[in-house]
Amino acid sequence: MKTWFKELSFSTNKAREVIDLTGRVTSAVRESGIKNGLVVVQLPHATASLALNENESGLKRDLLEQLNELVPVRGDYQHDRIDDNAHAHLKSAFIGSSVALPIVDGRIVRGTWQNFLVIEQDGPRTRRLAIFVMGE
Ligand code: ZN
Repeated sequence: MKTWFKELSFSTNKAREVIDLTGRVTSAVRESGIKNGLVVVQLPHATASLALNENESGLKRDLLEQLNELVPVRGDYQHDRIDDNAHAHLKSAFIGSSVALPIVDGRIVRGTWQNFLVIEQDGPRTRRLAIFVMGE
């Protein structure tokens, strides 16, 4: 069995936004040469999250707005005593930061509307995305 690892770098441009990294993830898996196995995609950050969902402008706005309904930017948060981004940590904790998916015949098994979306909540900044592939 072979393993392969790559870390992508990308920038976010706003405090809160949704960025689609599907093209870069699928290219990385192709580059790995592994045709059947597993890919783990991990966003190593505590104030952004990774979700599999549709890259549609209305839905991306809905995601940001509904997250903000759930956890407003300004609130009575303990973490804001030492930092100013408690809301971003909470949203990241609720959504999660990694996914593991099968690779079959060279393709990542995912739904038509399941794009790799990074949900930034504490930008703009430079972020990384780690991609680990194992298989044959
Ligand atoms: Zn913080």
